[in-house]
Amino acid sequence: SAEQKPNTIKTTCPYCGVGCGIDVTPTSTLGKVKVVGDKLHPANFGRLCVKGSATGETLDFEGRMLAPQINGEVVDWETALTEVASRFQKTIAEHGPDSVAFYVSGQLLTEDYYVANKLIKGFIGTSNIDTNSRLCMASAVVGYKRAFGSDTVPCSYVDLEQADVITLVGSNAAWAHPVVYQRIAAAKKNNPNMKVVVVDPRRTATCEIADIHLALRPGMDAALFNGLLNYLVTNDAVDTDYIKLFTEGFEDALAAASGQNGIAEVAEQCDVSEQDLAQWFAWFAESRKVVTLYSQGVNQSSSGVDKSNAIINCHLAGGKIGYEGAGPFSITGQPNAMGGREVGGLANQMAAHMDFTQAANVDRVARFWQASNMAKREGLKAVDMFQAVADGKIKAIWIMNTNPAVSMPNADAVKAALQACETVVVSDCMQSTDTTEVADILLPALTWGETSGSVTNSDRTISIQRQFMQGPDLARADWWLICEVAKRMGFASAFDYASPADIFDEHARLSAFENGSGAGQSLRDFDLSALVGLSEEDYLDLKPIQWPVVTKDAQGNPQGTQRMFENGLFFTPNRKARFIPITPMPPKSLPTKDKPFVFNTGRIRDQWHTMTRTAKTGKLMAHRDEPYLSLNPKDADALGLQKDGLVRASNELGVFIGRVEISDAQRPKEVFAPMHWTNQYTSHGKVDILVAPNVDPMSGQPESKHSVVKVEAF
Ligand code: SF4
Repeated sequence: SAEQKPNTIKTTCPYCGVGCGIDVTPTSTLGKVKVVGDKLHPANFGRLCVKGSATGETLDFEGRMLAPQINGEVVDWETALTEVASRFQKTIAEHGPDSVAFYVSGQLLTEDYYVANKLIKGFIGTSNIDTNSRLCMASAVVGYKRAFGSDTVPCSYVDLEQADVITLVGSNAAWAHPVVYQRIAAAKKNNPNMKVVVVDPRRTATCEIADIHLALRPGMDAALFNGLLNYLVTNDAVDTDYIKLFTEGFEDALAAASGQNGIAEVAEQCDVSEQDLAQWFAWFAESRKVVTLYSQGVNQSSSGVDKSNAIINCHLAGGKIGYEGAGPFSITGQPNAMGGREVGGLANQMAAHMDFTQAANVDRVARFWQASNMAKREGLKAVDMFQAVADGKIKAIWIMNTNPAVSMPNADAVKAALQACETVVVSDCMQSTDTTEVADILLPALTWGETSGSVTNSDRTISIQRQFMQGPDLARADWWLICEVAKRMGFASAFDYASPADIFDEHARLSAFENGSGAGQSLRDFDLSALVGLSEEDYLDLKPIQWPVVTKDAQGNPQGTQRMFENGLFFTPNRKARFIPITPMPPKSLPTKDKPFVFNTGRIRDQWHTMTRTAKTGKLMAHRDEPYLSLNPKDADALGLQKDGLVRASNELGVFIGRVEISDAQRPKEVFAPMHWTNQYTSHGKVDILVAPNVDPMSGQPESKHSVVKVEAF
């Protein structure tokens, strides 16, 4: 582009799963860079949101972890690495491999994730590795796998521009995935016939472009989509050929849904207008080009998997998948949640989208890695993992680039468990977090802009995040420090990588290993066979590309895959997609006389996670600079709360104190608080201490959208 100078470096944004491309250009002021959207990147075509635009203002080293430390004393790298290796070895020798764990992050690059997973599953011999993505999209993964036989996002961002109807369920994209929202808003402007429907208990900023907002009773998503399935059948709006040729289980799913009865009953159960519901059902029924975007409002639920399958059922019934402008589209929260899924960052998955359900998978990965001690079964998912720390079953844990003492449900109990744990290693770029406070060993990691590696965004696009500046002298890339510990544990030959390109090549080779690779021939969805053998230079030059990557053009350029399942073949044993019968379940914690309010948590527009980067800019802090609790005017009146006063929300797990926000965007008896604040910025601003550790039984994802609390003036 015209703005691009020869010294411009292309990278991607460190924040959300949209995965926008960024052009970074050094300026004449040392340490300052100019940041603009990459006009060529297929996620954003030049757009950036406020957070992405402000990344250039967050690059100082203030607050950074600058040196390895053991029990608060600065040590050299050799001492720190040897100490980590010997403590893990000793724990494993005394208590077995399941007494250790890694808790990793959707902030890691794919190569970091790959070696962490390889070390623990292939060489230590346990699957006790889980990622903070468990809190964000684990239910979507299981939903896809149940329906398609694979964890495959069928859609592409281009489908947003081609759709006639877009339904956003449990997603405030305007704040949480702003460039996706901008793309939908622009598409709607270009195509005034496009309909946008928002399904969310709250009236969020996303509703500004909605034709209909269904402010449903929280937790009723499965009933809503069962109602839609029933409507499609009774109104002759199913694609019987598609169902017959490409799916199985339709009758059972319909039998489960038909108990929902008609529109009036569904409207009443969900507490939405019958007229609006009928209109949305009709729009969904009339067009094949229908995209349903769903996010944490669906996933963060004790029945999140069923909710995602209730959505997928409706798409399968109408053949609204594998088709332009159509599909059930889970959007991920973090920049590399998808990359983590690809390499086995979840306790129930192995590398290259294989899992433990077939012994052949375990055997295949073990042979490929020449693993000395391959894990044979799933490990503990996040909530259970920290419970095992509390119970003394896990005695050594390595936490990489995440802050579970703030972000896990029942966060104070997690922090106490870590405090009591024999060995807590934390690798992070920041010195002071709630989790580093309870660490025995600290390892300083490089962060965004200081190292290179790959990430995968919500629509399967793999991009290279590129280094454009030097990090603190002693900070190191995560892949390096994991490999150095592995070497000191005796696994030198398996972790002898020269660079991220080297690791990526192994990752690509594993994806192609015994996978029948070829156009349409792959046995497993995740296949990078056409990216095998990239030179260091080719890897660093790699243009954004959507997996699977199984073919090359005439010039030898690898070709990605924009849309999945166009041929109607899925990755189940008989290649058919599965309908899943859904019985809607209520949330686990329900309001009581003592705790009459539903407590909902989520992102705000200008902050990211626990604010370590975004709090560095005044511009972003200016949006909302304090934790707050949003509640309906009726409730504020009844409780005698005034705007900008202080309010206390509490339950048996803890206390939250925030500023009062009075808003009719909240349904009565339902309150919302932002998830970002930590002890570093305020006392009593942490929301996750109030979140009960109730999880979906299949995905292990916590129900972070539906705790119950007492609310009172402070
Ligand atoms: Fe970054 Fe997400 Fe904003 Fe894009 S939409 S600039 S990826 S925070």
